[in-house]
Amino acid sequence: MILDEVEVARVTRLSPSFVRIELAGACLAEFGVDGPLYDQRIKLVLPFVPGGSLPSFAGADESWWASWQARPEEERGHLRTYTVRAVAGVGADTRLVVDIVVHGDADGEPGPGCAWAARAEVGDRVVLMAPRRGSAYGGIEFAPPAPAGRLLLVGDETTVPAICAILEQLPADAVGAAFLEVPTAADVLPVAHPRGVEVSWVWRDGADHGSALHPAVLAHLGVGAVPVEESLEVDPDLWETPSYSSSGETVGAAGAAGAHDRGGLYAWIAGESGMVTGLRRVLVRDLGVDRRQVAFMGYWRRGVAMKS
Ligand SMILES: Cc1cc2nc3c(=O)[nH]c(=O)nc-3n(C[C@H](O)[C@H](O)[C@H](O)COP(=O)(O)OP(=O)(O)OC[C@H]3O[C@@H](n4cnc5c(N)ncnc54)[C@H](O)[C@@H]3O)c2cc1C
Repeated sequence: MILDEVEVARVTRLSPSFVRIELAGACLAEFGVDGPLYDQRIKLVLPFVPGGSLPSFAGADESWWASWQARPEEERGHLRTYTVRAVAGVGADTRLVVDIVVHGDADGEPGPGCAWAARAEVGDRVVLMAPRRGSAYGGIEFAPPAPAGRLLLVGDETTVPAICAILEQLPADAVGAAFLEVPTAADVLPVAHPRGVEVSWVWRDGADHGSALHPAVLAHLGVGAVPVEESLEVDPDLWETPSYSSSGETVGAAGAAGAHDRGGLYAWIAGESGMVTGLRRVLVRDLGVDRRQVAFMGYWRRGVAMKS
């Protein structure tokens, strides 16, 4: 994998809630995966304090994680997960485009990732962890079973980079629907998509996360209003895909008796863990969709900082 310093080459404020950052560096000449990037995740190590120094990973080997974790927190910096929105340029001029959500105090104290993006300037440096062409890295969860059926892509603003990247890389004959919830109407971004995939943006205008998305998705699935259960137990690290289960469920097993495929539906649902948990309950418990056809991913949890 690539584990190296890169530099901010361009900063663009896309909308009230999105900052686009282009990362450049000689190491990016080796960036790449076999096949489409889809929702490829990467990690950034940010300085512990704004303008502070970065940990060195020079000479890092397989044990880099343990030795990095062993360093004092103020030397380690902050590790945060993002998505490759796009790749620009080629060779040594390759740049990774990353769209980062910036939010105000109304949503809680901004974390170091949000604060870093909000003040990022050309020349700022971060450590990047990303796939190196020709070596295994992982980090792509979008994997509809073949033959492709009907897609359902759902997420809040933190998943807008992933859903937009997936939409742009789908085959032209893909069919399905995408629902994206953003904070305000001004955060709706242009995205190219196959004609057969209907893209719906909803905005919550100060209401709770998921409050616009939940009813839109239920209506699409033909389900009547299901109240969001306040008592619903939420795993902040929720990650349920056909190949991994944070709750320890047996993965890859046949669906429960009676589980059905709803016309070959493949659902990719990510964002705030409480919102994802609510939709998971509807799809798996109420509709009985086969677990092998769904990916539910908690990208963040309200009130919980990402571990680093
Ligand atoms: C696979 C994956 C891909 C991701 N891709 C992207 C991406 O491309 N762009 C992106 O912006 N995010 C993305 N995220 C989400 C991002 O990693 C989290 O939002 C992360 O918590 C941001 O770190 P932070 O330092 O800003 O906040 P943290 O220090 O983690 O949290 C501080 C506080 O801010 C709150 N918080 C965190 N994120 C938000 C938010 N978006 N809105 C409101 N409150 C928030 C937390 O609940 C907490 O109370 C991705 C996450 C995953 C797992």
